[in-house]
Amino acid sequence: MSSLEVMSKDESKISVKLKGISLQYSNALRRLCLNGVPIFAIDTVDIIENSSVLPDEGLAHRLGLIPIKTDLTRFNEPSKCDCQSEVGCSNCKVMLVLDSGDSEITKTVLTDELTSEDDSIKPISDKIPIVQLAPGQRVKVECYARLGRGREHAKWNSSNIATLIETAKEDERILTVESTGALTPEEIILAGVSELGSGLEDFKNMIDQLKEE
Ligand SMILES: [Zn+2]
Repeated sequence: MSSLEVMSKDESKISVKLKGISLQYSNALRRLCLNGVPIFAIDTVDIIENSSVLPDEGLAHRLGLIPIKTDLTRFNEPSKCDCQSEVGCSNCKVMLVLDSGDSEITKTVLTDELTSEDDSIKPISDKIPIVQLAPGQRVKVECYARLGRGREHAKWNSSNIATLIETAKEDERILTVESTGALTPEEIILAGVSELGSGLEDFKNMIDQLKEE
């Protein structure tokens, strides 16, 4: 009998006990939780104006690394979206804009100035620094975020850390997952399990079947 039991959880971290699940499957689940669950990240950036000292590529890179709150229920990965378009559609792409305006003082532009067209897809915090501006400098960009996976680029990693620890009992391990903030730790585990099989029931059946063989 295989099972998955929550040992502890808080906003950013969850530990679950995996019982009766082989090492290979437990480890596959760990890897999926780390970089196989889709999350949103900024993928393309159109720079309209950038008079900061940070080069355009540096600015685009910084924007790409901002953790973006993700809603997996409403959006498709571009490769699986019905639109099948390079440009994308409202089901697979979200636009975020940033316009610092002209600054009269030296200031740090934070993520609170990056506004999203979709309220559920936005930076996980208002206070992440993006770029420093001197008086007279300005940054104006249009960004497009999409779902992706960490296997493609680390900016789409769903977890900062995912570890598997053996317990004293046979076929019992503790999986601990620490979220980047894009998804809740529970959402990562559930999406990981669903990626591994098609839902927990299939996963259980698959494990049980393997045992019978
Ligand atoms: Zn689409």
